[in-house]
Amino acid sequence: MFKKILIANRGEIALRIQRACREMGIKSVVVYSEADREAKYVKLADEAVCIGPPPSAQSYLNMPAIISTAEVTDAEAIHPGYGFLSENADFAERVEKSGFTFIGPTPESIRVMGDKVAAKQAMIKSGVPCVPGSEGALPDDAKTIIQTARAIGYPVIIKAAGGGGGRGMRVVHTEAALLHAVQTTRTEAGAAFGNPAVYMEKFLENPRHIEIQVMADQHKNAVWLGERDCSMQRRHQKIIEEAPAPGIPRRVIERIGERCAAACKKIGYRGAGTFEFLFEDGEFYFIEMNTRVQVEHPVTEWVTGIDIVQMQIRVAAGEKLPFTQRNIALHGHAIECRINAEDPYKFTPSPGRITMWHMPGGPGVRVDSHAYTNYLVPPNYDSMIGKIIVHGDTREQALARMRTALSETVVEGIQTNIPLHRELMADAKFVEGGTSIHYLEGWLSRLKR
Ligand code: ADP
Repeated sequence: MFKKILIANRGEIALRIQRACREMGIKSVVVYSEADREAKYVKLADEAVCIGPPPSAQSYLNMPAIISTAEVTDAEAIHPGYGFLSENADFAERVEKSGFTFIGPTPESIRVMGDKVAAKQAMIKSGVPCVPGSEGALPDDAKTIIQTARAIGYPVIIKAAGGGGGRGMRVVHTEAALLHAVQTTRTEAGAAFGNPAVYMEKFLENPRHIEIQVMADQHKNAVWLGERDCSMQRRHQKIIEEAPAPGIPRRVIERIGERCAAACKKIGYRGAGTFEFLFEDGEFYFIEMNTRVQVEHPVTEWVTGIDIVQMQIRVAAGEKLPFTQRNIALHGHAIECRINAEDPYKFTPSPGRITMWHMPGGPGVRVDSHAYTNYLVPPNYDSMIGKIIVHGDTREQALARMRTALSETVVEGIQTNIPLHRELMADAKFVEGGTSIHYLEGWLSRLKR
């Protein structure tokens, strides 16, 4: 096992990884930008090294600074968390070439899955069903683009091959709007992701977002750890996640889960990963694979009893998975609410000084956050400042626990989306379960009227 790990991330996930290391008796080094000097995990760190000014490009995305910090601190492995460099194949390659272990899949796996067009092709080959769409990236010529859309049928969605974080997507309802939409998405994708390639998919009108967590070792073992329902989204970004997905028969989930585990073996995948699907009328359609730990991993940890971050570290160190598919059972129900520093209804970011931070507790409540009273939320990064996760024997009990937890929560000095979570936990449709990815948008537009 590693003696020391460098954590190349910030926020709650840096703290989460630090906790996993501590529990395993591994020392950890955190790197931080000048904006994160006051963060909890920096204060708690075995070692902390400032790697640059607030802008991510000069700190959390600065590969030479991160790798040289690993060198001077004698770290053996680098955990990239999520976001930032976690799905950057060049970074994974440079980490390994410099003699460190990258806690994640191989650079090749990251490269294939990071290009959504290549990922879909790999999935089709592995027998994983995909959303109907263009075969590969769209060409330049207008005629082919128009014909492709006609063959798929409107509405269609134009997506950037290199996209992520809910950005680089555009829905098109009519042929008149098609070419302009393709052009704009191309330009944006080139600027934002350094890759102007775009592809087309059928825009599903009423799907749920269901994803499968997988874990694979370097000895050809791969398992799936149940599913998560992440349909409650704003601007294509998740805000509530739960496990298991309400109302879907187990055998339907098992069929897709087994295909994901089989695909991992086929592509030689290692580490934690997530297969994301849209689910409509009883069918699963693959949209992308995330080759890293996800924000919503705690709901899976709670229903399976498996520590996903520790498992990532173990398989990166070469250990075999300590369980087989038959040992994995789901217990009860878990729900996560992402706490964002933002206007709860308009989603404009609300960074600033937190004057009061009181988090809930009690049976079945977990809080993952790096914030505290007097913490200054920097304006430079993602607006998520923590997660409240609850577990219950049933979904009803989990919902009741989340309502209680949210009623105890106090955050002052900045705006947060806690009021929105409180309303959604009491919303009849959400309580019933099985709302689609467009539900929250509709809910918000009714609110405006
Ligand atoms: P990202 O990598 O940016 O998260 P995804 O491909 O995972 O992009 O899509 C994010 C979200 O966008 C999905 O959860 C869903 O809400 C929406 N979306 C993506 N593709 C489609 C589609 N074909 N039809 C309807 N909604 C879609």
